[in-house]
Amino acid sequence: MSHVFPRHCHSKLPTAVGGEGCYLIDSNGKRYLDGSGGAAVSCLGHGNPAVTAAVAEQMQAVAFAHTGFFTSEPAEMLADYLIARAPGTLDRVYFVSGGSEAVEAAIKLARQYCLERGEPERRNVIARRQSYHGNTIGALAAGGNAWRREPFLPILPEMNHIDPCYAYRYQRDGETEEAYGQRAAQALEEEILRLGPESVMAFIAEPVVGATLGAVTAAAGYFTAVREICDRYGVLLILDEVMCGMGRTGHLFACDADGVAPDILCIAKGLGAGYQPIGAMLCSKQIFDAIADGSGFFQHGHTYVGHPTATAAGLAVVQEIESRDLIAQVRQRGHVLRSALEEAFGQHPNVGDIRGRGLFLGLELVADRQSKEPLDPAMKVAAQVKAAAFEAGLICYPMPGTVDGRKGDHILLAPPFIIEEAQVGELVEKLDTAMRAVLP
Ligand code: PMP
Repeated sequence: MSHVFPRHCHSKLPTAVGGEGCYLIDSNGKRYLDGSGGAAVSCLGHGNPAVTAAVAEQMQAVAFAHTGFFTSEPAEMLADYLIARAPGTLDRVYFVSGGSEAVEAAIKLARQYCLERGEPERRNVIARRQSYHGNTIGALAAGGNAWRREPFLPILPEMNHIDPCYAYRYQRDGETEEAYGQRAAQALEEEILRLGPESVMAFIAEPVVGATLGAVTAAAGYFTAVREICDRYGVLLILDEVMCGMGRTGHLFACDADGVAPDILCIAKGLGAGYQPIGAMLCSKQIFDAIADGSGFFQHGHTYVGHPTATAAGLAVVQEIESRDLIAQVRQRGHVLRSALEEAFGQHPNVGDIRGRGLFLGLELVADRQSKEPLDPAMKVAAQVKAAAFEAGLICYPMPGTVDGRKGDHILLAPPFIIEEAQVGELVEKLDTAMRAVLP
Protein backbone atom coordinates (compact mmCIF):
# COMPACT_ATOMS: atom_id res chain seq x y z
CA MET A 1 0.00 0.00 0.00
CA SER A 2 1.23 3.48 -0.85
CA HIS A 3 1.52 6.03 1.92
CA VAL A 4 1.71 8.93 -0.52
CA PHE A 5 -1.44 11.08 -0.33
CA PRO A 6 -2.49 11.44 -3.99
CA ARG A 7 -4.69 14.29 -5.13
CA HIS A 8 -7.29 11.86 -6.48
CA CYS A 9 -7.47 9.53 -3.52
CA HIS A 10 -8.55 6.46 -5.47
CA SER A 11 -6.24 6.78 -8.43
CA LYS A 12 -3.69 4.09 -9.05
CA LEU A 13 -0.78 5.76 -10.74
CA PRO A 14 2.11 4.20 -12.61
CA THR A 15 5.58 4.94 -11.25
CA ALA A 16 7.68 7.28 -13.37
CA VAL A 17 11.25 6.01 -13.46
CA GLY A 18 12.78 7.72 -16.46
CA GLY A 19 12.57 10.61 -18.85
CA GLU A 20 14.14 11.07 -22.26
CA GLY A 21 13.42 14.17 -24.28
CA CYS A 22 9.68 14.29 -24.96
CA TYR A 23 9.00 10.95 -23.27
CA LEU A 24 8.37 9.74 -19.74
CA ILE A 25 8.91 6.07 -18.93
CA ASP A 26 7.16 4.08 -16.21
CA SER A 27 8.42 1.13 -14.19
CA ASN A 28 6.88 -1.30 -16.69
CA GLY A 29 8.92 0.25 -19.46
CA LYS A 30 5.90 1.95 -21.06
CA ARG A 31 6.73 5.22 -22.82
CA TYR A 32 4.45 8.24 -22.73
CA LEU A 33 4.78 11.14 -25.14
CA ASP A 34 4.54 14.23 -22.93
CA GLY A 35 2.04 16.16 -25.01
CA SER A 36 1.33 18.70 -22.29
CA GLY A 37 4.72 19.00 -20.58
CA GLY A 38 2.89 17.82 -17.45
CA ALA A 39 0.90 21.02 -17.04
CA ALA A 40 2.89 23.24 -19.42
CA VAL A 41 6.01 22.76 -17.31
CA SER A 42 8.56 20.60 -19.14
CA CYS A 43 9.48 23.02 -21.91
CA LEU A 44 12.92 21.44 -22.42
CA GLY A 45 11.71 17.87 -22.15
CA HIS A 46 13.19 15.36 -19.74
CA GLY A 47 16.83 14.60 -18.99
CA ASN A 48 18.26 17.86 -20.31
CA PRO A 49 22.00 17.55 -19.62
CA ALA A 50 22.76 21.30 -19.39
CA VAL A 51 20.11 21.98 -16.76
CA THR A 52 20.91 18.81 -14.83
CA ALA A 53 24.61 19.73 -14.76
CA ALA A 54 23.90 23.32 -13.69
CA VAL A 55 21.73 22.14 -10.81
CA ALA A 56 24.30 19.54 -9.70
CA GLU A 57 27.12 22.07 -9.89
CA GLN A 58 25.22 24.63 -7.85
CA MET A 59 24.23 22.02 -5.33
CA GLN A 60 27.85 21.09 -4.84
CA ALA A 61 28.99 24.72 -4.59
CA VAL A 62 26.24 25.85 -2.23
CA ALA A 63 22.80 24.28 -2.10
CA PHE A 64 21.20 26.72 0.31
CA ALA A 65 22.07 30.19 1.56
CA HIS A 66 19.18 31.96 3.28
CA THR A 67 18.20 35.17 1.47
CA GLY A 68 18.13 36.96 4.81
CA PHE A 69 21.92 36.65 4.72
CA PHE A 70 23.05 36.13 1.13
CA THR A 71 22.22 36.61 -2.51
CA SER A 72 23.55 34.10 -5.04
CA GLU A 73 25.17 34.28 -8.46
CA PRO A 74 22.42 32.39 -10.31
CA ALA A 75 19.68 34.52 -8.71
CA GLU A 76 21.46 37.72 -9.77
CA MET A 77 22.14 36.47 -13.29
CA LEU A 78 18.63 35.13 -13.81
CA ALA A 79 17.08 38.38 -12.59
CA ASP A 80 19.33 40.35 -14.97
CA TYR A 81 18.31 38.11 -17.84
CA LEU A 82 14.59 38.46 -17.17
CA ILE A 83 14.65 42.21 -16.61
CA ALA A 84 16.69 42.83 -19.75
CA ARG A 85 13.84 41.24 -21.74
CA ALA A 86 10.82 42.16 -19.64
CA PRO A 87 8.22 44.55 -21.01
CA GLY A 88 7.57 48.10 -19.83
CA THR A 89 9.12 49.29 -16.62
CA LEU A 90 9.44 45.90 -14.91
CA ASP A 91 12.63 46.28 -12.98
CA ARG A 92 12.92 43.82 -10.09
CA VAL A 93 12.45 40.08 -9.70
CA TYR A 94 11.27 38.39 -6.53
CA PHE A 95 11.97 34.65 -6.73
CA VAL A 96 9.54 32.23 -5.13
CA SER A 97 8.91 28.49 -5.26
CA GLY A 98 5.99 28.20 -7.68
CA GLY A 99 2.99 29.75 -9.36
CA SER A 100 0.56 30.07 -6.46
CA GLU A 101 3.25 31.72 -4.41
CA ALA A 102 4.04 34.17 -7.20
CA VAL A 103 0.36 35.19 -7.34
CA GLU A 104 0.14 35.34 -3.57
CA ALA A 105 3.20 37.59 -3.48
CA ALA A 106 1.79 39.78 -6.27
CA ILE A 107 -1.46 40.40 -4.39
CA LYS A 108 0.43 41.22 -1.21
CA LEU A 109 2.83 43.50 -3.06
CA ALA A 110 -0.08 45.36 -4.67
CA ARG A 111 -1.66 45.90 -1.27
CA GLN A 112 1.60 47.04 0.27
CA TYR A 113 2.18 49.46 -2.60
CA CYS A 114 -1.24 51.04 -2.02
CA LEU A 115 -0.49 51.37 1.69
CA GLU A 116 2.93 52.91 1.10
CA ARG A 117 1.28 55.43 -1.25
CA GLY A 118 -1.20 56.41 1.44
CA GLU A 119 -4.17 54.72 -0.27
CA PRO A 120 -5.28 52.21 2.38
CA GLU A 121 -8.83 52.17 1.02
CA ARG A 122 -7.56 50.37 -2.11
CA ARG A 123 -8.21 46.74 -1.21
CA ASN A 124 -10.39 45.25 -3.96
CA VAL A 125 -8.96 42.77 -6.43
CA ILE A 126 -10.82 42.14 -9.67
CA ALA A 127 -10.22 38.85 -11.45
CA ARG A 128 -12.12 36.93 -14.11
CA ARG A 129 -14.60 34.09 -14.01
CA GLN A 130 -13.24 30.85 -15.42
CA SER A 131 -9.73 31.65 -14.24
CA TYR A 132 -7.20 29.76 -12.18
CA HIS A 133 -4.46 31.54 -10.28
CA GLY A 134 -3.36 28.88 -7.84
CA ASN A 135 -4.40 26.92 -4.82
CA THR A 136 -3.20 28.84 -1.78
CA ILE A 137 -5.81 30.89 0.08
CA GLY A 138 -5.19 34.23 -1.67
CA ALA A 139 -4.58 32.80 -5.13
CA LEU A 140 -7.63 30.55 -4.77
CA ALA A 141 -9.75 33.56 -3.83
CA ALA A 142 -8.60 35.33 -6.99
CA GLY A 143 -9.47 32.32 -9.15
CA GLY A 144 -12.81 32.43 -10.89
CA ASN A 145 -14.00 28.85 -10.53
CA ALA A 146 -16.85 28.88 -8.05
CA TRP A 147 -16.62 25.14 -7.44
CA ARG A 148 -12.98 25.43 -6.40
CA ARG A 149 -13.65 28.33 -4.06
CA GLU A 150 -16.94 27.23 -2.58
CA PRO A 151 -15.73 24.82 0.14
CA PHE A 152 -13.30 27.43 1.43
CA LEU A 153 -15.43 30.56 1.11
CA PRO A 154 -15.73 31.23 4.84
CA ILE A 155 -11.96 31.50 5.09
CA LEU A 156 -11.26 33.24 1.76
CA PRO A 157 -10.85 36.96 1.26
CA GLU A 158 -13.60 38.39 -0.93
CA MET A 159 -12.59 39.13 -4.50
CA ASN A 160 -14.57 40.30 -7.51
CA HIS A 161 -15.02 38.55 -10.81
CA ILE A 162 -15.94 39.69 -14.30
CA ASP A 163 -16.41 37.66 -17.48
CA PRO A 164 -13.29 36.62 -19.34
CA CYS A 165 -12.59 37.63 -22.91
CA TYR A 166 -13.64 34.46 -24.65
CA ALA A 167 -14.16 35.66 -28.14
CA TYR A 168 -15.67 32.93 -30.22
CA ARG A 169 -18.32 31.86 -27.75
CA TYR A 170 -19.75 35.16 -26.79
CA GLN A 171 -19.18 37.00 -29.99
CA ARG A 172 -22.42 38.48 -31.19
CA ASP A 173 -23.39 37.97 -34.76
CA GLY A 174 -21.81 40.60 -36.90
CA GLU A 175 -19.59 42.04 -34.16
CA THR A 176 -15.95 42.40 -35.10
CA GLU A 177 -13.22 40.93 -32.92
CA GLU A 178 -12.06 44.44 -32.02
CA ALA A 179 -15.54 45.53 -31.02
CA TYR A 180 -15.92 42.40 -28.91
CA GLY A 181 -12.52 43.07 -27.28
CA GLN A 182 -13.59 46.59 -26.34
CA ARG A 183 -16.89 45.33 -24.98
CA ALA A 184 -15.16 42.64 -22.90
CA ALA A 185 -12.74 45.24 -21.48
CA GLN A 186 -15.68 47.49 -20.71
CA ALA A 187 -16.76 44.93 -18.10
CA LEU A 188 -13.63 45.85 -16.14
CA GLU A 189 -14.44 49.54 -16.17
CA GLU A 190 -18.00 48.82 -15.08
CA GLU A 191 -16.76 46.69 -12.19
CA ILE A 192 -14.26 49.38 -11.11
CA LEU A 193 -17.06 51.95 -11.15
CA ARG A 194 -19.41 49.62 -9.29
CA LEU A 195 -16.85 49.04 -6.53
CA GLY A 196 -15.73 52.67 -6.47
CA PRO A 197 -12.43 53.40 -8.25
CA GLU A 198 -10.71 54.55 -5.08
CA SER A 199 -11.31 51.11 -3.52
CA VAL A 200 -9.74 49.04 -6.31
CA MET A 201 -6.19 47.81 -5.91
CA ALA A 202 -5.55 45.46 -8.84
CA PHE A 203 -6.89 43.54 -11.80
CA ILE A 204 -5.40 40.10 -12.43
CA ALA A 205 -5.67 38.08 -15.65
CA GLU A 206 -3.84 35.52 -17.75
CA PRO A 207 -2.87 36.84 -21.21
CA VAL A 208 -3.61 33.39 -22.65
CA VAL A 209 -5.95 31.43 -20.41
CA GLY A 210 -4.55 27.98 -19.68
CA ALA A 211 -5.78 25.86 -16.87
CA THR A 212 -9.50 26.53 -17.08
CA LEU A 213 -10.25 27.27 -20.70
CA GLY A 214 -7.60 25.52 -22.76
CA ALA A 215 -5.43 28.17 -24.42
CA VAL A 216 -7.87 31.01 -25.00
CA THR A 217 -6.23 34.12 -26.42
CA ALA A 218 -7.90 37.47 -25.87
CA ALA A 219 -9.61 39.34 -28.68
CA ALA A 220 -7.43 41.90 -30.47
CA GLY A 221 -7.26 45.14 -28.51
CA TYR A 222 -8.65 43.68 -25.28
CA PHE A 223 -5.49 44.01 -23.22
CA THR A 224 -4.64 47.44 -24.63
CA ALA A 225 -8.07 48.60 -23.49
CA VAL A 226 -7.59 46.89 -20.12
CA ARG A 227 -4.24 48.67 -19.66
CA GLU A 228 -5.85 52.03 -20.42
CA ILE A 229 -8.70 51.41 -17.99
CA CYS A 230 -6.28 50.37 -15.22
CA ASP A 231 -4.23 53.54 -15.81
CA ARG A 232 -7.33 55.72 -15.82
CA TYR A 233 -8.34 54.55 -12.35
CA GLY A 234 -4.92 53.94 -10.79
CA VAL A 235 -5.50 50.18 -10.70
CA LEU A 236 -2.47 47.88 -10.89
CA LEU A 237 -2.42 45.35 -13.72
CA ILE A 238 -1.14 41.92 -12.62
CA LEU A 239 -0.57 39.46 -15.45
CA ASP A 240 -0.41 35.80 -14.50
CA GLU A 241 1.94 34.09 -16.94
CA VAL A 242 2.58 31.13 -14.68
CA MET A 243 1.42 28.81 -17.45
CA CYS A 244 1.64 30.83 -20.65
CA GLY A 245 4.95 32.61 -20.00
CA MET A 246 8.59 31.73 -20.66
CA GLY A 247 8.39 31.16 -24.39
CA ARG A 248 5.38 28.83 -24.42
CA THR A 249 3.32 31.06 -26.76
CA GLY A 250 6.23 31.85 -29.09
CA HIS A 251 7.14 35.00 -27.15
CA LEU A 252 9.30 35.02 -24.02
CA PHE A 253 6.43 36.75 -22.24
CA ALA A 254 2.93 36.09 -23.54
CA CYS A 255 1.90 39.74 -23.07
CA ASP A 256 4.51 40.77 -25.66
CA ALA A 257 2.06 39.56 -28.32
CA ASP A 258 -0.65 41.85 -26.94
CA GLY A 259 1.71 44.83 -26.76
CA VAL A 260 0.98 45.53 -23.09
CA ALA A 261 3.19 45.72 -20.05
CA PRO A 262 1.83 44.89 -16.61
CA ASP A 263 2.80 46.46 -13.29
CA ILE A 264 3.39 43.01 -11.87
CA LEU A 265 4.09 39.82 -13.82
CA CYS A 266 3.95 36.29 -12.40
CA ILE A 267 5.88 33.41 -13.98
CA ALA A 268 6.65 29.87 -12.83
CA LYS A 269 6.21 26.51 -14.55
CA GLY A 270 8.44 26.85 -17.62
CA LEU A 271 10.99 28.89 -15.68
CA GLY A 272 12.24 25.80 -13.88
CA ALA A 273 11.09 23.52 -16.72
CA GLY A 274 10.35 20.90 -14.06
CA TYR A 275 13.98 20.64 -12.96
CA GLN A 276 13.41 22.68 -9.82
CA PRO A 277 10.38 24.27 -8.19
CA ILE A 278 10.68 27.97 -8.94
CA GLY A 279 8.47 30.92 -9.70
CA ALA A 280 9.02 34.65 -9.88
CA MET A 281 7.20 37.92 -9.55
CA LEU A 282 8.49 40.82 -11.59
CA CYS A 283 7.44 44.31 -10.56
CA SER A 284 7.79 47.81 -11.93
CA LYS A 285 10.41 50.26 -10.74
CA GLN A 286 7.63 52.48 -9.42
CA ILE A 287 6.35 49.72 -7.13
CA PHE A 288 9.78 48.69 -5.95
CA ASP A 289 10.76 52.29 -5.25
CA ALA A 290 7.57 52.92 -3.27
CA ILE A 291 8.43 50.02 -0.95
CA ALA A 292 12.16 50.79 -0.86
CA ASP A 293 11.60 54.49 -0.09
CA GLY A 294 8.76 53.69 2.31
CA SER A 295 8.96 50.92 4.88
CA GLY A 296 11.90 49.38 3.04
CA PHE A 297 10.54 45.91 3.74
CA PHE A 298 8.35 43.66 1.60
CA GLN A 299 6.20 41.69 3.97
CA HIS A 300 6.35 38.42 2.14
CA GLY A 301 8.94 35.71 2.35
CA HIS A 302 9.24 31.98 2.52
CA THR A 303 12.26 29.97 3.59
CA TYR A 304 13.02 28.86 0.05
CA VAL A 305 12.66 32.17 -1.80
CA GLY A 306 15.54 32.81 -4.19
CA HIS A 307 16.91 29.30 -3.67
CA PRO A 308 20.37 28.96 -5.30
CA THR A 309 19.70 25.57 -6.85
CA ALA A 310 16.27 26.61 -8.14
CA THR A 311 17.62 29.81 -9.67
CA ALA A 312 20.55 27.84 -11.15
CA ALA A 313 17.98 25.65 -12.89
CA GLY A 314 16.09 28.73 -14.10
CA LEU A 315 19.27 30.30 -15.41
CA ALA A 316 20.26 27.14 -17.28
CA VAL A 317 16.73 26.93 -18.73
CA VAL A 318 16.78 30.45 -20.17
CA GLN A 319 20.31 29.88 -21.49
CA GLU A 320 19.11 26.72 -23.25
CA ILE A 321 16.11 28.54 -24.70
CA GLU A 322 18.32 31.33 -25.98
CA SER A 323 21.31 29.33 -27.25
CA ARG A 324 19.10 26.85 -29.11
CA ASP A 325 16.75 29.54 -30.43
CA LEU A 326 13.85 27.59 -28.98
CA ILE A 327 11.30 30.40 -29.08
CA ALA A 328 11.56 30.47 -32.88
CA GLN A 329 11.17 26.70 -32.76
CA VAL A 330 8.03 27.06 -30.62
CA ARG A 331 6.49 29.20 -33.34
CA GLN A 332 7.43 26.80 -36.10
CA ARG A 333 6.43 23.59 -34.28
CA GLY A 334 3.34 25.32 -32.96
CA HIS A 335 2.32 26.00 -36.52
CA VAL A 336 2.98 22.37 -37.49
CA LEU A 337 0.99 21.06 -34.51
CA ARG A 338 -1.91 23.39 -35.13
CA SER A 339 -2.13 22.44 -38.80
CA ALA A 340 -2.00 18.75 -37.89
CA LEU A 341 -4.77 19.24 -35.30
CA GLU A 342 -6.87 21.12 -37.81
CA GLU A 343 -6.39 18.38 -40.36
CA ALA A 344 -7.27 15.64 -37.88
CA PHE A 345 -10.07 17.33 -35.96
CA GLY A 346 -11.13 20.41 -37.93
CA GLN A 347 -14.30 18.68 -39.14
CA HIS A 348 -14.85 16.50 -36.07
CA PRO A 349 -18.47 16.86 -34.93
CA ASN A 350 -17.40 17.22 -31.30
CA VAL A 351 -14.56 19.69 -31.74
CA GLY A 352 -15.90 23.22 -31.38
CA ASP A 353 -12.61 25.08 -31.50
CA ILE A 354 -8.89 24.58 -32.04
CA ARG A 355 -7.02 27.55 -30.64
CA GLY A 356 -4.03 29.00 -28.86
CA ARG A 357 -0.62 30.41 -29.64
CA GLY A 358 2.77 28.79 -30.16
CA LEU A 359 2.98 25.42 -28.42
CA PHE A 360 0.08 26.30 -26.14
CA LEU A 361 -2.94 24.89 -27.92
CA GLY A 362 -6.41 23.86 -26.87
CA LEU A 363 -9.24 21.76 -28.23
CA GLU A 364 -12.74 22.53 -27.09
CA LEU A 365 -14.97 19.46 -27.06
CA VAL A 366 -18.66 20.15 -27.63
CA ALA A 367 -21.91 18.32 -28.29
CA ASP A 368 -22.45 20.27 -31.49
CA ARG A 369 -19.75 21.82 -33.65
CA GLN A 370 -21.97 24.55 -35.08
CA SER A 371 -23.86 25.75 -32.02
CA LYS A 372 -20.92 25.00 -29.63
CA GLU A 373 -23.47 23.43 -27.31
CA PRO A 374 -21.36 21.86 -24.57
CA LEU A 375 -21.28 18.16 -23.75
CA ASP A 376 -23.07 16.85 -20.68
CA PRO A 377 -20.59 17.59 -17.86
CA ALA A 378 -21.60 14.36 -16.12
CA MET A 379 -19.92 12.50 -18.99
CA LYS A 380 -16.57 14.05 -18.05
CA VAL A 381 -15.47 13.74 -21.65
CA ALA A 382 -12.19 15.63 -21.27
CA ALA A 383 -11.19 13.34 -18.40
CA GLN A 384 -12.14 10.32 -20.49
CA VAL A 385 -10.01 11.55 -23.39
CA LYS A 386 -7.10 12.11 -21.01
CA ALA A 387 -7.46 8.52 -19.70
CA ALA A 388 -7.72 7.01 -23.18
CA ALA A 389 -4.73 9.04 -24.36
CA PHE A 390 -2.70 7.94 -21.35
CA GLU A 391 -3.58 4.34 -22.18
CA ALA A 392 -2.34 4.98 -25.72
CA GLY A 393 0.89 6.48 -24.36
CA LEU A 394 0.13 10.20 -24.60
CA ILE A 395 -0.02 12.76 -21.82
CA CYS A 396 -2.54 15.54 -22.48
CA TYR A 397 -4.13 17.90 -19.98
CA PRO A 398 -7.89 17.89 -19.51
CA MET A 399 -9.98 20.77 -18.23
CA PRO A 400 -12.98 19.95 -16.09
CA GLY A 401 -16.42 19.35 -17.55
CA THR A 402 -18.07 22.24 -15.74
CA VAL A 403 -16.57 25.65 -15.36
CA ASP A 404 -18.33 28.08 -13.06
CA GLY A 405 -21.79 27.04 -14.10
CA ARG A 406 -20.91 27.30 -17.76
CA LYS A 407 -20.14 23.98 -19.25
CA GLY A 408 -17.08 23.17 -21.26
CA ASP A 409 -14.64 20.37 -21.94
CA HIS A 410 -11.16 21.29 -23.06
CA ILE A 411 -7.92 19.47 -23.80
CA LEU A 412 -4.71 21.43 -23.41
CA LEU A 413 -1.61 20.56 -25.42
CA ALA A 414 1.72 22.06 -24.42
CA PRO A 415 4.52 19.73 -25.50
CA PRO A 416 8.22 20.44 -24.90
CA PHE A 417 9.70 23.11 -27.19
CA ILE A 418 12.11 20.45 -28.48
CA ILE A 419 9.34 18.29 -29.97
CA GLU A 420 10.33 16.91 -33.38
CA GLU A 421 7.96 17.07 -36.32
CA ALA A 422 7.66 13.27 -36.31
CA GLN A 423 6.64 13.43 -32.66
CA VAL A 424 3.99 16.02 -33.53
CA GLY A 425 2.58 13.37 -35.87
CA GLU A 426 2.71 10.78 -33.11
CA LEU A 427 0.94 13.15 -30.70
CA VAL A 428 -1.95 13.80 -33.07
CA GLU A 429 -2.23 10.12 -33.98
CA LYS A 430 -2.48 9.10 -30.33
CA LEU A 431 -4.95 11.85 -29.57
CA ASP A 432 -7.00 10.65 -32.51
CA THR A 433 -6.98 7.10 -31.09
CA ALA A 434 -8.19 8.49 -27.75
CA MET A 435 -10.88 10.65 -29.37
CA ARG A 436 -12.16 7.69 -31.40
CA ALA A 437 -12.38 5.59 -28.22
CA VAL A 438 -14.37 8.24 -26.33
CA LEU A 439 -16.32 10.03 -29.08
CA PRO A 440 -16.77 7.39 -31.81
N1 PMP B 1 -1.57 30.55 -12.25
C1 PMP B 1 -1.83 29.86 -13.35
C2 PMP B 1 -2.30 30.57 -14.57
C3 PMP B 1 -1.66 28.48 -13.38
O1 PMP B 1 -1.92 27.78 -14.49
C4 PMP B 1 -1.20 27.83 -12.21
C5 PMP B 1 -1.00 26.33 -12.16
N2 PMP B 1 -1.77 25.58 -13.00
C6 PMP B 1 -0.94 28.60 -11.07
C7 PMP B 1 -1.13 29.97 -11.13
C8 PMP B 1 -0.46 27.97 -9.79
O2 PMP B 1 0.84 27.49 -9.96
P1 PMP B 1 1.43 26.35 -9.02
O3 PMP B 1 0.65 25.12 -9.30
O4 PMP B 1 2.87 26.27 -9.42
O5 PMP B 1 1.28 26.80 -7.62
